[in-house]
Amino acid sequence: MLIFPCSGGSNVGQLANETAKRLTDQGVGGMYCLAGIGGHISGFAEATREVKKVVVIDGCPVRCAKKTLDHADCPVTIHVVVTELGIKKSSDFHLDDIEIVKVEKAVKEKLKK
Ligand code: SF4
Repeated sequence: MLIFPCSGGSNVGQLANETAKRLTDQGVGGMYCLAGIGGHISGFAEATREVKKVVVIDGCPVRCAKKTLDHADCPVTIHVVVTELGIKKSSDFHLDDIEIVKVEKAVKEKLKK
């Protein structure tokens, strides 16, 4: 399973990034390189199409990560948008561990379904 956070320049983008790192540390899946997909680097989209599940974590409704994978014809299994969990977008990069856990739980809940 591959995990793609948008890793955007906001608290919610970085919450997506931290969650992907944490899920990777826990062995839930492997964080992968969204920029490789967006940059049309050889092998990245192909490798993504070969895995069973693709998890995408976007910070906000702009959905940059999901759109990047859509453009590359990479099917997305689970999509979580951090602002839809009640977390407001800001430029405060002091991330709250409670919020990381909230995003982590949202991904895990969707994986159970
Ligand atoms: S989805 Fe939102 S937070 Fe993430 S990169 Fe795009 S604009 Fe930034």
